[in-house]
Amino acid sequence: MRSHAIAAIPADGIGPEVISAGLRVLAALAQRLGDVRFDVETFGWGSDHYRKHGVMMPADGLATLKTFDAIYFGAVGAPDVPDHVTLWGLRLPICQGFDQYANVRPTRILPGITPPLRHCGPGDLDWVIVRENSEGEYSGHGGRAHKGLPEEVGTEVAIFTRVGVTRIMRYAFGLARSRPRKLLTVVTKSNAQRHGMVMWDEIAAEVAQEFPDVAWDKMLVDAMTVRMTLKPRSLDTIVATNLHADILSDLAGALAGSLGVAPTANIDPQRRFPSMFEPIHGSAFDITGKGIANPVASFWTAAQMLEHLGEPEAAARLMRAIERVTGAGILTPDLGGTATTRDVTEAVVDAIHSSNI
Ligand code: NAD
Ligand code: MN
Repeated sequence: MRSHAIAAIPADGIGPEVISAGLRVLAALAQRLGDVRFDVETFGWGSDHYRKHGVMMPADGLATLKTFDAIYFGAVGAPDVPDHVTLWGLRLPICQGFDQYANVRPTRILPGITPPLRHCGPGDLDWVIVRENSEGEYSGHGGRAHKGLPEEVGTEVAIFTRVGVTRIMRYAFGLARSRPRKLLTVVTKSNAQRHGMVMWDEIAAEVAQEFPDVAWDKMLVDAMTVRMTLKPRSLDTIVATNLHADILSDLAGALAGSLGVAPTANIDPQRRFPSMFEPIHGSAFDITGKGIANPVASFWTAAQMLEHLGEPEAAARLMRAIERVTGAGILTPDLGGTATTRDVTEAVVDAIHSSNI
């Protein structure tokens, strides 16, 4: 029996709804497969913890998480706590503390989903966005001078290091190589931003030499939104900075039908620390507690987690189960359906147990 220790951090808003759905599905997989076990411990960190203790997680939070094989994360964000507090108090310290420098965001149009683009159907959009996850625009550097005065200045400093850019570029080229089309698009804004972004372009060209079998091209981020919308078939693997990929992957999620299906993996490719798996979406307080949050993103990211844990069979079975359920039109309201979180979850559990999947 193989066993994997998973730290679940449901956190805020719909986070607990989609993570408990995901844990139910993981338990069903373990039961169905019989040779794998998930030892899950759930941590009540997040905005409630902040209201009680003034911090999003305990001071020894990272030391606690370090002993796990993977982290399964919901979302942070609450109406009464500033977003920069929730983000910098929990999610970013984990990503940065565990050097999860590769953020991997697959996008596909799942069967049964009608995407917003009329020229686009299942199979027309199959991307993986690789987001630099350790530096860039979210390095936390900058400051405010003359706070509150008319002459106030705020700076937001993006930091790009040769080590940081080279390692994400190698990861992205390697991922592109593993996919059938072997095609990578490198995104920057190196016309207007002439320092770190130009370095990014130069390092891409250097790393490309190590991957002669990968075809690659460059795009400016603004033009990239147009290409994603009008020529989705021309793209495959995409690499971009922390900020650019953050924005592009929300667009990708929407183009594939809903943010509610978009998963993400925060990976430490060297496996020194646990990696973290989460839906792309936030805490969605507009639908919290209504029982209609789409759990598909949390299922899909669980499949990414299973791949990472060396359980490709379980991952593939879960993806087939998800596709069977979406294909049967069992969809939550964000996808135009009437199913609840529970309906979708139970349908996926049934599919996992079915003999012909
Ligand atoms: P959001 O992703 O929470 O919601 C955007 C829209 O998409 C909302 O209309 C929401 O109802 C819908 N949506 C999102 N996930 C869905 C799902 N699974 N099923 C159905 N509909 C879904 O983004 P927002 O509204 O900009 O932010 C809300 C809060 O979440 C903020 O506090 C923000 O800072 C935080 N946030 C956190 C993360 C994270 O934890 N990784 C990411 C993004 C935003
Ligand atoms: Mn985002």
